[in-house]
Amino acid sequence: MATERTFSILKPDVTARNLTGAVNAVIEEAGLRIVAQRRIRMSDAQAKKFYEVHAERPFYGELVEFMTSGPVVVQVLEGENAVAKYREVMGATNPAQAADGTIRQKFAKSVGENTVHGSDSLENAGIEIKQFFDDKDIVG
Ligand code: ATP
Ligand code: MG
Repeated sequence: MATERTFSILKPDVTARNLTGAVNAVIEEAGLRIVAQRRIRMSDAQAKKFYEVHAERPFYGELVEFMTSGPVVVQVLEGENAVAKYREVMGATNPAQAADGTIRQKFAKSVGENTVHGSDSLENAGIEIKQFFDDKDIVG
């Protein structure tokens, strides 16, 4: 097992409902360490670039609109197998299919407003972290 870093976003449905601490508690209880965190408003350009792999999907416009609709909290999480571990802690994309105890099962409102983002591979984690954090701002 290897110590990894993954990129996380607490989406606007979290900040709107004042759930930052509640979601962070689930992350920390799972053994993941929050080694960088910042609350920001994502610009339209940032959201479009971040989700550009989905540019051809029918929900792309709605997704970009949602991600820019309010503040988000961007984070770097560190731990053993952090990428896969966080995907497990997040639960399925559609909260109706998310396992008990997962963040999306506990808090997500819909497949669109689904509370958290987590990188889907170690390679993408590195790319995504660089979009939002300088190395000096990550304190392990
Ligand atoms: P994320 O990339 O945000 O961590 P994910 O990897 O579980 O989520 P993706 O397939 O990468 O899911 O989709 C990216 C995001 O697009 C989802 O988290 C969700 O907010 C939105 N999305 C995905 N499918 C739909 C859909 N059918 N309708 C509306 N929004 C969707
Ligand atoms: Mg994804």
